[in-house]
Amino acid sequence: MTGVLSSELADSDFLRALLDAAPDATVVVNAQGRIVFANLQVERILGYPRSDLLGQPVEVLVPTRYHGTHASHRSRFIGDPRVRPMGSGLELFCVKRDGSEIPIEISLSPVSLGGRTLVSAAIRDITERKRGEHEMRRLQSHLLSAVESIQGAFAIFDREDRLVLCNSTYRQTTSTADAGEIVGRAYEQLLRASIAAGLYDTSLHTPDEIEAMSLAHHHNPQDELSLRMADGRRMRCFARRTAEGGVVKTILDVTDDVQHEEELRRARQEAEAASSAKSEFLSSMSHELRTPLNAILGFAQLLHRDKKTPLSDRHRERIEHVLKGGEHLLRLIDDILDLSRIEAGRVTVSVEPVDVAEVLNEVQTTLASIAARADILVSIAELPNDLPFVVADRTRFKQILMNYGSNAIKYGRARGRVTFRVSVENTMVRVVVDDDGIGIPADKQDRIFSPFHRAGQETGSIEGTGIGLAISKRLAEIMGGHVGFASVQAQGSSFWIELMAHRKPASERSAAVGAFNASSALSEAGSRFAIIYIEDNPSNVAFMTDLLGDYERFDLITAPTAEIGIELVRARKPHVVIMDINLPGISGFDAIKRLREWPETRTIPVIALSAAAMVREASRIKDAGFYRYLTKPVKVDELAAVLEELLVAQQREP
Ligand code: ADP
Repeated sequence: MTGVLSSELADSDFLRALLDAAPDATVVVNAQGRIVFANLQVERILGYPRSDLLGQPVEVLVPTRYHGTHASHRSRFIGDPRVRPMGSGLELFCVKRDGSEIPIEISLSPVSLGGRTLVSAAIRDITERKRGEHEMRRLQSHLLSAVESIQGAFAIFDREDRLVLCNSTYRQTTSTADAGEIVGRAYEQLLRASIAAGLYDTSLHTPDEIEAMSLAHHHNPQDELSLRMADGRRMRCFARRTAEGGVVKTILDVTDDVQHEEELRRARQEAEAASSAKSEFLSSMSHELRTPLNAILGFAQLLHRDKKTPLSDRHRERIEHVLKGGEHLLRLIDDILDLSRIEAGRVTVSVEPVDVAEVLNEVQTTLASIAARADILVSIAELPNDLPFVVADRTRFKQILMNYGSNAIKYGRARGRVTFRVSVENTMVRVVVDDDGIGIPADKQDRIFSPFHRAGQETGSIEGTGIGLAISKRLAEIMGGHVGFASVQAQGSSFWIELMAHRKPASERSAAVGAFNASSALSEAGSRFAIIYIEDNPSNVAFMTDLLGDYERFDLITAPTAEIGIELVRARKPHVVIMDINLPGISGFDAIKRLREWPETRTIPVIALSAAAMVREASRIKDAGFYRYLTKPVKVDELAAVLEELLVAQQREP
């Protein structure tokens, strides 16, 4: 019977071709469960030659573990045949000829033929789809574990603001235990629920304000949003729009950071307050101590020299102790006062080009008497050729060299030598003070530049305060330089200071003036220009006079204070004013303010000249109405360019 049927079908070429062309493997099974037809795909998908299957029970294609249930399902289908998918919701497998299994999907259709019911089963190999699904699940679990591992709370909302994905921290941070599943819910709904559940601290903002702020941030995520939770935690919420119009949100617990920041800020404030209180205290104490000390020293000296009623030798010796102690105390007070001013940032240095050789000679002369007393020879080694000037505050530079020099003598040995050496290294000039004295023990060297550290001399017989080197280091740094030393115990020490070299070597200074004149368009003959230079530092005045004075078209008038300068400007109405900012009496800022008030001086251009240490004041200088701001030491080219620009322009004006 089976054979007849199959041959009938086989006879129908068209039908066979149609079935062979179907994408799925199709087998037709009779009421007894035997295969009566198999299409071409069966061979391809299941690996059987079709002829092998014909007449076989369909169970050959079913894994053995399902044989029992399959037979009963089959008879039930014959009893109620309709088109339907088989085993919906179940994973189905088919056994290939080689015994391997493939995942499949089956659609069953009853076929009535000659009063008999047959069942056509279309079998689709879903191996690829299963693999895809598997891969998808794998990726999804990767994504989920990645999201889970993100530090802090993380959530993605879709363009309708519904929660698509979040990690457990997000759940804990934003929802309460009774909130149920939150994926799929709208942001606004989640937000309201968490506010209502009392998750947020409402001491600073009302619940309505928290809702408004959070919604605004969610809909227009730009900056971060800071949140205070009811349990005291501090959160920082970041949001970004996705390309799909959704929002990605990260919420970080920054409680520790905020606390740490606050502690740091408090500590810094306290330290600053303590430091300025200390400086204030030291500086006022020093002033207070100085007055009675002056009386002590004054009267002790009077007693010491009293010719009318001379002191006995014993008393004289005692008064000498008073004088010595008093002088030491006075030095200490002066040093402390100086250091506390420097530390409080209240010292302004006025840098200018300084001639090193000149300063060294002065230092040598000043040290001569104490050197002679200590039986030490102080000398200056031969200076390098073309030694440039250094950029320094002359007085402070000398103070540092005096500190080094007097230490070298103090900690030197009788019949020893102290030598000042100068070398030039690139843009820096280094002055070294060598001695062959007691040196500093290696284990005492690391804090030598810190105040009150005396490197083992605390208990020794050599007097000192331990402040000199600390002051020297700070001063050198303020002038843009640095200090250092090398020392070997019982052999000697070398202390050095490095300062910036001034661009023009001393020997070329007049050449610089020449270059200024030659390069300037102003060197042509023409009308004369009046320049008023307001400056209190005599060597700066000398420098400017040197620079401009011998140039015949310039009439340079100098004024040592702003008060005098202003009067001069009003009287002379110069073409240009060059003004130092730090002046005794009223400052350059006040001076220009006054000049801007009077109609007759309002339009006169004023060039500001100030120490490089004041660079942070540059914007203030600009706002004050200065035409230009130049730093000291004066760069000749720069000044020439500004003057040329100003004066040539004025020359053209009718
Ligand atoms: P003071 O000399 O008043 O103690 P300083 O700050 O000038 O203070 O120096 C700090 C310490 O450095 C000195 O107490 C001394 O121990 C050491 N010191 C400085 N210069 C020399 C030197 N040339 N040789 C040996 N020790 C030195």
